[in-house]
Amino acid sequence: MKFQNYWRRVEVAGTVHKVAISAIICDAPARAFLKCVKGHTGFYGCERCCQRGVYLNSKVVFNECDAELRTDDTFKNRNQKDHHLANSPLENIQNFGMVSQFPLDFMQQVCLGVMRRLLLHWIKGSNSCRLSPRERLGISERLNSIRNLTPSEFNRIPRGLDTVERWKANEFRLFLLYTGPYAVSSYVKQKLYDHFMILHVAIRILCSNEMAVGHCEYAKQLLHSFVSAMTMNYGPDSVVYNIHNLIHTADDVKFMSAPLQDFSCFPFENMLGQIKRIIRTANNPLSQLTRRLAESNAMCLGEGSSGDLKVRRDPLTGKVFEVSNKEITLSTCKDKNAYVMLKDKRVLRIEEMHFSERDSQLSDLVLVGPVFKYYENYFIYPCESSKLSIFKAWDISASVDSVMFVNIYKKCFVIPKGNHFIVYPLLH
Ligand SMILES: [Zn+2]
Repeated sequence: MKFQNYWRRVEVAGTVHKVAISAIICDAPARAFLKCVKGHTGFYGCERCCQRGVYLNSKVVFNECDAELRTDDTFKNRNQKDHHLANSPLENIQNFGMVSQFPLDFMQQVCLGVMRRLLLHWIKGSNSCRLSPRERLGISERLNSIRNLTPSEFNRIPRGLDTVERWKANEFRLFLLYTGPYAVSSYVKQKLYDHFMILHVAIRILCSNEMAVGHCEYAKQLLHSFVSAMTMNYGPDSVVYNIHNLIHTADDVKFMSAPLQDFSCFPFENMLGQIKRIIRTANNPLSQLTRRLAESNAMCLGEGSSGDLKVRRDPLTGKVFEVSNKEITLSTCKDKNAYVMLKDKRVLRIEEMHFSERDSQLSDLVLVGPVFKYYENYFIYPCESSKLSIFKAWDISASVDSVMFVNIYKKCFVIPKGNHFIVYPLLH
């Protein structure tokens, strides 16, 4: 992520720290509070463009897709007075962009905003888009059927649609980026499925380390067409604040030069989860937290530089059956952790692992197993899935390949469907 700003010197208790603000990441009400502007339910609430929202069916909707954009300068010059409530103290920071350095948060806006709303349209929306109880059950069965196939890198596994009101942001992200197309195909009407696929592809591009910056203009076009078609598919009051903001999402990726997930609330939310797990009782939570963190740091120091790599071996044969660190888990015995995509885009199922030289060095790990023989596009709308390294694969080879860890492109989420497998490379 690039730093647009200058370093600043901040003195705390006699110590000088160098601080640079890259971006302020928070949800829409907190952004409005910090910027001292109208909230997301206000007529002039869009932080990125100057359109006046329209009140419809107890909601404020933003139907224009090409309104004049707000910039750091127009914000500073108060070009649209109705947007502002007061002067924010943050405006006193030199060279700080009050528009550009407040990115829209992927977790709140896209996962908890757009994906949740789309699912609620399907579950209890108008007749034209609502699913029948049989269709909802079919989708839930598909989601439940892949619970054991969800790689360990996801901290939540799929749940049925009957629990959607209680889904966490991670579950909406999993649905949007991986499981949704498989779960809803043939249940959701073709027109709505194609519309969802536009969102699926655009957000996968914007979350990809390799594609986000280079292809953000294409993703922006896709999101424009997704938002434009919302009214036709889900009614005139469907383009609310979060849906409308999709047309501005790609601009943040371009400005930050980083994929969406790199400047979202997800890391903070995950850390909060860890903190909650550390605290055992209601007494002195802060003391408990500092002690547990100090213990954890001491343990890491004791383990040395490769200490975070865990290698599990069969006690009888001594063969490695699982290797894991904070980022990745590979296993020979669990399907959910057994598939990797190689740099030549073939997909290998791990059947054996060993270290070529230094034990416990991931770079010396050798993976042995068969690869799929045949690959095809899993979908072709709005673009060929192979462009995103997503494939339909079948017929696993009888012979085995042996590859070094450095030749792995990504670990994969593999979903069986009929006589083939759907292969999604992980984005994180
Ligand atoms: Zn706008």
